[in-house]
Amino acid sequence: MIRINDNYTKLKASYLFADIARRVTAFVAEHPDKPVIRLGIGDVTEPLPPVCIAALHAATDEMAHRETFRGYGPEQGYAFLREAIAQHDFQALGAPIEPEEVFVSDGSKCDVANIQELFAADLRLAIPDPVYPVYVDTNVMAGRTGANTDGRYPGLIYLDSTAANGYVPAPPAEAADLVYLCFPNNPTGAVATRAQLAAWVAYARQHGAILLFDAAYESFIRTPGIPRSIYEIEGAREVAIEFRSYSKLAGFTGLRCAYTVIPKSLQARDAAGNLHSVHALWNRRHTTKFNGVSYPVQKAAASVYTPEGRAQTRALTDFYLGNARLIREALAGLGFSCIGGDNAPYIWADVRRDSWEFFDLLLQRAQVVCTPGAGFGRCGEGHIRISAFNSRANVETALARLAAALR
Ligand SMILES: *Cc1c(COP(=O)(O)O)cnc(C)c1O
Repeated sequence: MIRINDNYTKLKASYLFADIARRVTAFVAEHPDKPVIRLGIGDVTEPLPPVCIAALHAATDEMAHRETFRGYGPEQGYAFLREAIAQHDFQALGAPIEPEEVFVSDGSKCDVANIQELFAADLRLAIPDPVYPVYVDTNVMAGRTGANTDGRYPGLIYLDSTAANGYVPAPPAEAADLVYLCFPNNPTGAVATRAQLAAWVAYARQHGAILLFDAAYESFIRTPGIPRSIYEIEGAREVAIEFRSYSKLAGFTGLRCAYTVIPKSLQARDAAGNLHSVHALWNRRHTTKFNGVSYPVQKAAASVYTPEGRAQTRALTDFYLGNARLIREALAGLGFSCIGGDNAPYIWADVRRDSWEFFDLLLQRAQVVCTPGAGFGRCGEGHIRISAFNSRANVETALARLAAALR
């Protein structure tokens, strides 16, 4: 029999969402008369903006006629979308990014997962805790860690995000090669200030590291002065890759469109010490392993940058942020200290007890489902994540039940 990639056996089985589902199913079976409200979900609930639907219909009609039909497009994305991205998402902020530095894809999850294959196997990695599990698991699969012991992998530098540092870790004392950062953060909802991001850029420049900056929740930033892109920080073009997605911005979780920015000025060494363009490496990978996002979907993404698109996506994110504010105020009113919810669709609450115990308490007493923080890493223990992705009616009902159950 052939052998598997043994690194897969090191993966800690992800029990989080399966465990949640199991406990909820068991509760529902016992209490069919008590409807459960899920505030644990990391998926959007509202439909696509009308401007995207119109763009999808129009592009589909183009595909129906010989004169306007399109087959394979450029693997990196159509120029109309890459130009709109460079102009509106970067140049408008004073961030010097060119259309050729943008790679359109079918999701940030895949990009964030695949990027590590450009780099050597024996890199030192710095990864936040709590964390979006993809960053860790893809490096485990690639053999960059030892076997999991007590919930952690030897070989990783963990960046603890706790109340003590406001849930925004500072650069560690030791040198790392690849650093994963996510702001606004999933699961905590924390945002990084300009000074905090500048410290990371300075660290990367000092150690010859690369920052992998996941900005999937950029469109929820409302506080003036909080950077939306790592490229707003001077010097980031030489040390950072940024990931963006239409999933949370415009409800594309089921439609699928995202992009990755790799500046042409980003370089890395080979074993002999020769410099290579990381942009060129990713271009080679992308054109070899990916055949582009469908034309109608790219047209839908481009429609987000029209005046109507901007207004409609702003209304969408404002709606979720309205939910987030209600949740945060309710939790604060019940005496929990919370972060997030002001520039992110997640609220991270310090519940001062075991996170699964609190999960069970909310389920039993209020029929509300949250996400136990322990599922995102050791530092998530003692916390829960509540998601603002829901209808207003569900949020209001859930909060009324929480108040009654916890008062
Ligand atoms: C939702 C999310 C993404 C976006 O993933 P897509 O594959 O583009 O849908 C990326 N990073 C984080 C942390 C997320 O929560």
